[in-house]
Amino acid sequence: MTRLVLVGPPGAGKGTQAGTLSAKLGVPHISTGDLFRAHIGDGTELGRSVQAYLDEGQLVPDEVTNEMVRERLAEQDTKGGFILDGFPRNIPQAEVLAKILAESGHKLDAVVQFQIDEDVVVARLLGRGRKDDNEEVIRHRQHVYRSETEPLLNFYRDIVVTVDAVGEVDEVTNRVLNALDK
Ligand code: AMP
Repeated sequence: MTRLVLVGPPGAGKGTQAGTLSAKLGVPHISTGDLFRAHIGDGTELGRSVQAYLDEGQLVPDEVTNEMVRERLAEQDTKGGFILDGFPRNIPQAEVLAKILAESGHKLDAVVQFQIDEDVVVARLLGRGRKDDNEEVIRHRQHVYRSETEPLLNFYRDIVVTVDAVGEVDEVTNRVLNALDK
């Protein structure tokens, strides 16, 4: 079971868990947020075109995001699986992902939902200090999560496993592995 999507509000610890799970399961961690930040850092054209969306906590347009993910999933290291962190973030992206996977005869194995209170994540993010971590942008990202991303839990209801995301990093990793029966 190695084709995974992690879903949870910004600040739930998906990135940290994706890193740990990637090492344990031997599949790459693919974070669309990290890919966008790398483009911005490298000053690419794509980076310049998405900067304002990240600064404001808005979703980057689907065409841009989907194309970047399609290219990443065409790379050899994803053939045995992957952990997607931050993608899909809405139902149209999920539909595109299903199509990309179907082209190589694959589908997702599971969607891991990180369950955590909004107040806890806002407090965490305020302590993180990333450029898009001021309170207004944080609140906006939570709103985008609830309105656009949370409906994915219903879309994926047959393959969702829910994990309590409050606890020590190792503890949460073990919950995920247990939930996936690893
Ligand atoms: P993250 O690192 O996952 O918190 O993402 C940071 C920012 O990158 C988000 O607030 C969006 O602006 C953008 N982003 C990341 N993933 C996506 C996605 N799947 N669709 C659209 N925008 C995204």
